[in-house]
Amino acid sequence: MNPEEHRALRELLGTYALGQLTPAEVTRVRAHLDGCPECRAELAAIAPLAEPLRMVDPDRLGAELPAPPAWLEESILTAIDNEPRRRRPVGRWLVAAAAVVVIGAGGAALGYGLAPKPPEIPLEPVTVAVADPAVRSTADVVPHTWGMEIKLTATGFADGETYRVVVVTADGRTAPAGEFIGTGDREMHCNLNSSVLRPDATAFRVLDDRGRNVASGGL
Ligand SMILES: [Zn+2]
Repeated sequence: MNPEEHRALRELLGTYALGQLTPAEVTRVRAHLDGCPECRAELAAIAPLAEPLRMVDPDRLGAELPAPPAWLEESILTAIDNEPRRRRPVGRWLVAAAAVVVIGAGGAALGYGLAPKPPEIPLEPVTVAVADPAVRSTADVVPHTWGMEIKLTATGFADGETYRVVVVTADGRTAPAGEFIGTGDREMHCNLNSSVLRPDATAFRVLDDRGRNVASGGL
């Protein structure tokens, strides 16, 4: 047997026991195990330790500095104490296996840390005038490079009725900003998008199915 290959595969046994190897590596390890009683014995010794390590949930290790939980360290130390003659190999594979777990957790934490924060949205509050006293509504508009968004919060638009929203431009045109269905007493939060740029908009209107103006916001 090639001693280099034996050593390399032996170092993979911990990761193998954790089920963290690639399919190609699994094939190599299994082929080696078939012909190597020494590695089979090593695997039999470390397999019971793989179970608690597998139960480590990287998501629960904390977002700051991922570290294996205390109970894991205790169970590892107990296992090492119980097998004094295996101290070195067990220690080595556990370091490798724990690194897999901790690197996994660290990767996750890093992923969260580097995820782009949603940009602060510059909300512009708008006073909404309503024609129907049942309607209560507030709105904010958001200037975008592609147009203007209207974030409408309201109750009292007739349940099940379809409403259309338009933006009125400075030169008197109206541009569509989308539609919504009234939710009656339940509060609705509706984002409506229009292609009108914020500086070009002077108002938005909410129209019922007959085109009557039921609410409007001056911009
Ligand atoms: Zn071997």
